[in-house]
Amino acid sequence: MPPKRQSSGRVLLGAHTSTAGGVHHALEEGRALGCDVVQLFTRNQRQWTPKPLDSGDVDLWRARLAQGGVRPAMAHTSYLVNLCASDDTILEKSRLAILDEVDRADLLGIPNVVLHPGAHLGRGEEAGVAAICQSLNWIIARRPAMKTVICLETTAGQGTTLGWRFEQLAAMLAGVKERARVAVCIDTCHLFAAGYDIRTAAGWRATLEEFDKVIGLDALRCAHLNDSKHELGSRKDRHQHIGDGFLGLGAFAALLADPRLRDIPLVLETPVDEAGDAPGPGGVAKGYAENLAVLRSLLPKASAPRGR
Ligand SMILES: [Zn+2]
Ligand SMILES: [Zn+2]
Repeated sequence: MPPKRQSSGRVLLGAHTSTAGGVHHALEEGRALGCDVVQLFTRNQRQWTPKPLDSGDVDLWRARLAQGGVRPAMAHTSYLVNLCASDDTILEKSRLAILDEVDRADLLGIPNVVLHPGAHLGRGEEAGVAAICQSLNWIIARRPAMKTVICLETTAGQGTTLGWRFEQLAAMLAGVKERARVAVCIDTCHLFAAGYDIRTAAGWRATLEEFDKVIGLDALRCAHLNDSKHELGSRKDRHQHIGDGFLGLGAFAALLADPRLRDIPLVLETPVDEAGDAPGPGGVAKGYAENLAVLRSLLPKASAPRGR
């Protein structure tokens, strides 16, 4: 079991912020947005061998962190990684990339590293899951003192990606020798695209109960809040602004009212429109500030009872 979270009963809201100009910028953007938590890339997510972290940047990061306020909750790993690749070169590159992600997270004091488990590319689900477990065990064996927790993200199930069914994630966790090293990050867009209907309070409750039954709620460490550009069960991973997609506001109201999601970092990965884009029904370009405002407007009043 992963270590028990400290419980303060707070809703922790944030966004995936930018590290352009140095990792500390992710904290500064988070503070400007009034975030409790942020997610960031600690390395270029589209390169296999990005530059090491600059020591000056790490100093700036630590100085910002010491000022308090926003917390770095999660690092999101590279999109190139496939921990069940059948090509040995890709597999080795993927494993080494995650080792580097773990090292960077530990250096920066980031408690969670979020990972898309992998795509079996035709080998089949069972072989894919087994290969992912082998890779996770390979990584963990090489970092016995690692502090960060590897969080397997629920995926949309696009192509041959694994981790879109709770049963697959449960099998991955079961195959890890050191269970405390690995946990789960849910993504609302991906859950919905994978066929979990979380649009209503009853649907959300049933989905979380299924998560608890199949995986166990103790494994739930963090979450991504995104609406979906595609319909229930589409298996397509396309994020939309909160309330502008097929999920709608009901899903987020239900999630934010759920006491089981307290103290769990809830991070937006919604689009950041360029000025002039007209994506939403209102035709207004949106960024994190607008999406955070929508989430905050859905928060239950402090005086409201916390029961379900
Ligand atoms: Zn992700
Ligand atoms: Zn996500």
